[in-house]
Amino acid sequence: MTDLFQKLESLYPALVELRRDLHMYPEVSLQEVETPRKIAQYLEKLGVEVKTGVGGNGVVGTIRGGKPGKTIALRADFDALPIQDQKEVPYKSKIPGVMHACGHDLHTAALLGVANVLSQVKDDIEGDVVLIHQFAEEVAPGGAEAMISDGCLEGIDEIYGAHVWADHPIGHYSFHEGYTMAAADTFDITIAGKGGHGAMPHQTVDPIVIASHIVLSLQQIASRITDPLKSVVVTIGAFHSGDAHNVIPDQAHIKGTVRTFDEEVRDRTEQLIQQFSEMTCQAYGAKAEVLYKRGHMALCNHADQTMKASNLAKKLFGEENVSDKEPIMGAEDFSFYLNEIPGSFFFVGGRNPEINATYPHHHPRFDVDERAILGIGKLFLSLVFPEVVLAHSNHKTDHSTK
Ligand code: MN
Repeated sequence: MTDLFQKLESLYPALVELRRDLHMYPEVSLQEVETPRKIAQYLEKLGVEVKTGVGGNGVVGTIRGGKPGKTIALRADFDALPIQDQKEVPYKSKIPGVMHACGHDLHTAALLGVANVLSQVKDDIEGDVVLIHQFAEEVAPGGAEAMISDGCLEGIDEIYGAHVWADHPIGHYSFHEGYTMAAADTFDITIAGKGGHGAMPHQTVDPIVIASHIVLSLQQIASRITDPLKSVVVTIGAFHSGDAHNVIPDQAHIKGTVRTFDEEVRDRTEQLIQQFSEMTCQAYGAKAEVLYKRGHMALCNHADQTMKASNLAKKLFGEENVSDKEPIMGAEDFSFYLNEIPGSFFFVGGRNPEINATYPHHHPRFDVDERAILGIGKLFLSLVFPEVVLAHSNHKTDHSTK
């Protein structure tokens, strides 16, 4: 195992360079062309079996182990976001308005490093390892669903994924069994009233006042209707109507997001948004049109795989550097893999104030400590060779102080 880690560490400078190249040339979801090409090229050079164009822009590599055993999949996403990079670093994005502001560049570098090490020791691997390089995580429907439909999970027994995490310091790892990230849906409501003169409201059906009632009613879903012990977020992110002081417009538009863990709460929330919109409009003589779109489903980590990963992390990095992750209402389409087969998705610290890596995910100054490449890499390698780590119970690697 130590040997595996040494192999990974010797690749570190090259992996940092790789991450920085991806960082300088980010590509937004569904428009990934060069990124999957670079990934496929790297894997092909290692002699890994590669499939490109999986579900769209996905790349799947397979490393066949020399011994019989389970097939494990390791997943890294590789899309960027439509955000202007505002960091001052030599590897700042060179593409205007596009940035790796979630760390998917680092996930990709880590998984390629793991592929490199595993391909050097493939005769010792029990079973096969499938490397899932996923496109379009940031949009719905995203790359996971498309890659699953294209068969990327066929024959796979377990799947693991990691996210570098800006809220955890470098060297910290967290795991959580069960619901860990939320389902993320969106809705658009159009309120069709009747426009007219601002001084003669009685001749109109004012969509702004009606839409305001709807915005307030929707607050009751979380505060009055849903079981307080269950989670739901209903956020209105946009409210547009009219553009003059003295004109009552014809229409108002509301956009928002719904976050839930429980499917029943999700169904009920969708139904309530529909009901509040339609009934409120009906009461005031307007018409509502509600478009509710389901996005990523909630991410639910499986017990055995989560236990396995967190135990390995404790052995590798020390109990004090491993915690139970508080669930969050953010979303991640790794949920779709976990809906099909057992697995776990965990969080690897990337925060480091010394290098200004303190901004939240999706912030224009987001950055992470690149040593998280080693953290993700070591965890992935240990999931392929768990018995080796567990046999060396005193073995502890602490790359955080290096
Ligand atoms: Mn992400």
